[in-house]
Amino acid sequence: MQGVGLMGGTFDPIHLGHLVTAEAARAAFDLERVIFVPAGMPPHKTGQLVTQSKHRHLMAVLATVTNPGFEVSRFEVDRPGPSYTIDTVRHFRSEIGPDRPLYFITGADAVLELGTWHDLDGILAYADIIAATRPGYALEQRAGHLTECQRAHLKVLEVPALAISSSDIRRRVAIGAPIKYLVPEPVEYYIARNHLYQPVAQPVER
Ligand code: NAP
Repeated sequence: MQGVGLMGGTFDPIHLGHLVTAEAARAAFDLERVIFVPAGMPPHKTGQLVTQSKHRHLMAVLATVTNPGFEVSRFEVDRPGPSYTIDTVRHFRSEIGPDRPLYFITGADAVLELGTWHDLDGILAYADIIAATRPGYALEQRAGHLTECQRAHLKVLEVPALAISSSDIRRRVAIGAPIKYLVPEPVEYYIARNHLYQPVAQPVER
């Protein structure tokens, strides 16, 4: 029975590393589809500036529209309050039924903080977690804070394209450096057209 992947992230913005990761997970774990779930309000980023969810959601749609194995969900962006992964995996588990494999796919750096996630054991009762890493990251050695039982639900997926990062793309846009071939072309246009990631103008002293 084919599984379903939930690609969780802030996606600020979505980039080719995310798309390669989702496609690699689809192949490696025999997933029928991967559903991108942009975080509405990332629970660990309160107080940080995150681009409006309507932009992050639309960029995810633009980036994934040509892949019939990809979908984008509004589940987290439409929910008020912090986007807890437990609510997301519970929702999709009830949609697909109890028997099909369900995976929550995200970055290894995020996975290193798993011990702080709300109701981790509840999450793992509904879904396994796929941690996408750069090759050579040695995630297992860094996951010592998790119990043996929790580690059994953790799958590692090495993705060379994860050298690309959203923070680097935001920095590049802010200084006027090119982002071509780091994000899909429609996302590049969307960022330019909506003036995303521009440096905040500082008041000029006279
Ligand atoms: P983050 O802290 O911004 O990112 C940590 C690292 O993981 C970054 O290097 C990031 O690269 C990478 N990353 C994030 N999502 C990825 C993905 N789907 N595939 C590959 N790499 C990815 O993490 P985040 O994006 O805000 O959060 C990740 C997910 O964990 C979200 O769905 C969030 O809701 C969930 N989460 C839940 C809880 C909770 O329930 N309490 C707590 C923390 C996180 P990029 O910046 O290039 O993406």
